[in-house]
Amino acid sequence: MIRRFFSYYAPYKKLFLLDFGCAVLAGLLELFFPLVVNRFVDDLLPGGKWDMILLASSGLLVLYIVNTFLHYIVNYRGHMLGINIETDMRKKLFDHIQKLSFRFFDNTKTGHLMSRLTNDMMQIGEMAHHGPEDLFIAVMTLTGSFTLMMLINWKLAILTFVIVPAIIWMVVYFNGKMTKAVHQLFSDIGDFNARVEDNVGGIRVVQAFSNEEHEKKQFAVNNGRFRKTKLLSYKLIAKNGSISYMMMRFVTLFVMVSGTWFVIRGELTYGEYIGFLLLTNVFFRPIEKINAIIESYPQGFAGFKRYVELLETEPDIADAPDAVELGELKREIRFENVSFGYDSDSRVLRNIDLTIHKGETIAFVGPSGAGKTTLCSLLPRFYEAASGAISIDGVDIRNLKLNSLRQNIGIVQQDVFLFSGTIRENILYGKLGAAEEEIWEAARRARLDEFIRAQPEGMDTVIGERGVKLSGGQKQRLSIARMFLKNPPILILDEATSALDTETEAIIQQSLAELSQGRTTLVIAHRLATIKNADRIVVVTERGITEQGRHQELVAAGGVYSRLHQAQFGT
Ligand code: ADP
Ligand code: MG
Repeated sequence: MIRRFFSYYAPYKKLFLLDFGCAVLAGLLELFFPLVVNRFVDDLLPGGKWDMILLASSGLLVLYIVNTFLHYIVNYRGHMLGINIETDMRKKLFDHIQKLSFRFFDNTKTGHLMSRLTNDMMQIGEMAHHGPEDLFIAVMTLTGSFTLMMLINWKLAILTFVIVPAIIWMVVYFNGKMTKAVHQLFSDIGDFNARVEDNVGGIRVVQAFSNEEHEKKQFAVNNGRFRKTKLLSYKLIAKNGSISYMMMRFVTLFVMVSGTWFVIRGELTYGEYIGFLLLTNVFFRPIEKINAIIESYPQGFAGFKRYVELLETEPDIADAPDAVELGELKREIRFENVSFGYDSDSRVLRNIDLTIHKGETIAFVGPSGAGKTTLCSLLPRFYEAASGAISIDGVDIRNLKLNSLRQNIGIVQQDVFLFSGTIRENILYGKLGAAEEEIWEAARRARLDEFIRAQPEGMDTVIGERGVKLSGGQKQRLSIARMFLKNPPILILDEATSALDTETEAIIQQSLAELSQGRTTLVIAHRLATIKNADRIVVVTERGITEQGRHQELVAAGGVYSRLHQAQFGT
């Protein structure tokens, strides 16, 4: 895990070396200053050598300035290193999320993904910057000051270090506790985000049911849990800080008192006494750093673990190594003995056999929940068939490049998803980079152009989150315009007009009829009137495909279709 973490430093070797080098230099200077004070008191003060005192002071001044400069570099460049690594990781994660399959998103909360991309990443960035540097400098300062203290007076040094094991124990103890608290904290933040996402996304439903109080209560539970965990971690931080503060003062006091004893016995000069006291402070400073490390590293590392976990989530569905491009559809789409279930112990589709010829319009009807949508979502490989095979012109779709397969298929659904942004942006989604005339042509064919022209902002009209500022019919027209622009040879219309009133439906049906011209079309229909003219009607029930044929044939056959027909038309 650690090695993996460091691999992210690779592109920034120079930056890292600069930052690290400056930090080490600054650390060394910290060690050097007490020694200068020591010499100052012992050698320069007694003789009153003014020229030497001036020289030494100016030398010190220069070093202080250098040190200030070093600190600036460490602060600025170090954070630059952190933010670079953070940016890289975030990009990698986002790119990875784009590849994950429907099944993953079916089972993942958006809010959790959001906190992976924001909160976790920020913590990791902090750690990437401070991590190695702080650790190295802590070790260097500890060993350096220890050695110098030994050199000044080994007896006093050893007396002082008796306390070190206690400190190490403390560090380890609190680190363990903090890691746990931080894990909890982050999962709380994830839950939190998920809840807000759900609430705000569904705020219209919340208000329509006037269930605000219920939502508030639910939120208060999350909020309270978050408070509790956060409080616990602050308590740990405070305890840790207080104890280490006390220990350090205690050590200073101890050195002050026992040092005088050595001074009185003549084993320590005044200069050494002061130098030693200063070094004691230098020695214990990293311990304070280590407190900061205890605070932030577990957070960073917990985040990194979750990050790696997500990165290692393999997409269920991806290109086979020898996948080929899908050419133009020439003959047929074939489902052969296809079975599928969303989880391993249930079956939505059983042994589906179906051939769809090029240019054919084939309609699926049947009770809700029978698996019509599921059947159609296997074709673009949103989900993978559990057994059997789907092929296009004899090539198994698993051997096709996902991109080219999906570019060849267009889907218009009942609930249209539009992106917040302008009408133009949403139509363009069908074919990024299309020319202005193409966009207008698509809008015209979807019968959306008049509406667009009537808007003060025209194509640049902002449609709100998920298109809330549009009516159902307008949204559907927009999605049809998007499809005209995409111009796929295979088209899936999944109850595209079911949510609309009959009048709007009739108009949109015309656009859809135009859209399916010259394409191989799979229509899922709720209202049978819309599919009377299909080349073939396929009845899907829980038992699979039970009937197929033309409208008249199926009505005459007296099966499920004729009963559906009777229910809708009463004939
Ligand atoms: P239809 O389109 O014929 O109304 P669907 O294909 O949408 O039916 O659904 C078929 C069955 O699969 C239903 O029982 C439904 O509950 C289930 N189902 C649909 N989508 C999912 C999903 N993403 N995860 C799990 N089960 C699902
Ligand atoms: Mg459906």
